[in-house]
Amino acid sequence: MSEDLNRFIESYDPIVPDAKGKFGEYGGRFVPESLVNACTELEQAFNHHWHSKEFKDEYLNILQSYGGRPTPITFCANVSEMLGIKLYLKREDLTHTGSHKINNVIGQALLAKKMGKINLIAETGAGQHGVATATAAALFGLGCKVYMGEIDARRQELNVFRMQLLGSEVQEVTSGSKTLKDAVNEAMREWVSRVDTTHYCLGSVMGPHPFPYMVREFQSILGNEARVQYSELVGGEPDYVVACVGGGSNAAGTFAGFIKTDSKLVGVEAAGGAALSHGRSGVVHGMSSKLLQDESGQINEAHSISAGLDYPGVGPEHAYLQETKRARYVSANDEEVLKAFLMLSKHEGIIPALESAHGLAWIMGAAGAGEIGKGESVLLTLSGRGDKDVQQVLTILRELKNT
Ligand SMILES: *Cc1c(COP(=O)(O)O)cnc(C)c1O
Repeated sequence: MSEDLNRFIESYDPIVPDAKGKFGEYGGRFVPESLVNACTELEQAFNHHWHSKEFKDEYLNILQSYGGRPTPITFCANVSEMLGIKLYLKREDLTHTGSHKINNVIGQALLAKKMGKINLIAETGAGQHGVATATAAALFGLGCKVYMGEIDARRQELNVFRMQLLGSEVQEVTSGSKTLKDAVNEAMREWVSRVDTTHYCLGSVMGPHPFPYMVREFQSILGNEARVQYSELVGGEPDYVVACVGGGSNAAGTFAGFIKTDSKLVGVEAAGGAALSHGRSGVVHGMSSKLLQDESGQINEAHSISAGLDYPGVGPEHAYLQETKRARYVSANDEEVLKAFLMLSKHEGIIPALESAHGLAWIMGAAGAGEIGKGESVLLTLSGRGDKDVQQVLTILRELKNT
């Protein structure tokens, strides 16, 4: 059944972190003694199963029959003509639950099951990773509790209800700023106290080793598919490979597929959450990476039009790819993102997630400025569909009209 997906990963040639889980000087495992065993157990289980054919076949089978993989790549004829480039989209918006997050949660839930765990816990900001984890828990018959800041839970009432429909409990977090970074802290605390029965299903390529590496591997299917599909459809490699960066999982999975090619890799952050462009090295949530912080090292809140990019840090592999110049990181502001969102909707009939619209916003600007040359090819990972964002965009457009 899974030959189909196996053929995409045959020539996967990734970079791997060192034995301490470091990508260059970034990554590692900065956790209290009580969490070290949990991380070690997870690292050993992941290394064992990820290299077994049985696990991989089962994982790929589920991604195919349940997750809707492989997703296609789509040539955007209209927008290409308008921008004078060749634009291709990798369509993660077409997966079950509507974003790349399904790749990660299916992998982690299957691994949890193999490890004999009966519960999942997860953190969530806007609710998207919480909904994805609740989905995987329902599929695998696992208990599920999602930690969500009280403020986020108020703002995202429908996602709270979705998680409940899927059979999960939502635990509101009232400490600190009552948002995502506090939800991560709370989920880690809970993991320590219940580690014998519970797996912590982390939502991006962040946290202590092995999470950044493991989540990237689960997301690499998307970059591997894209590379093979592009070479079959167009031939060769795209000049540019672009993805948006919140914690960095869809970008890491995309880049993994192209890391040994000549394609230029570009990650696009939200201007109000640009940890790579404006952050400094530091330690947060068990990892060393780049993060937004003030003079005294206090973490600054991130703000952008898309809740999915509101994370003050970024996965360590991206800090490494930036430092070694294998990838470039840029940012797009809310106004540019809104323009991109409207453009793709109107001219291609594809309503993108606001997160994904950051990638297109940069492409539009770079094509306009001649930075991407006439006729050059660009592959953009469309990380998710925009149905979840339509209400917010309507509100913004109404406000703009009234001012
Ligand atoms: C969660 C999410 C993101 C941001 O997460 P990454 O780990 O940076 O990929 C981007 N796009 C969509 C559609 C999301 O749901």
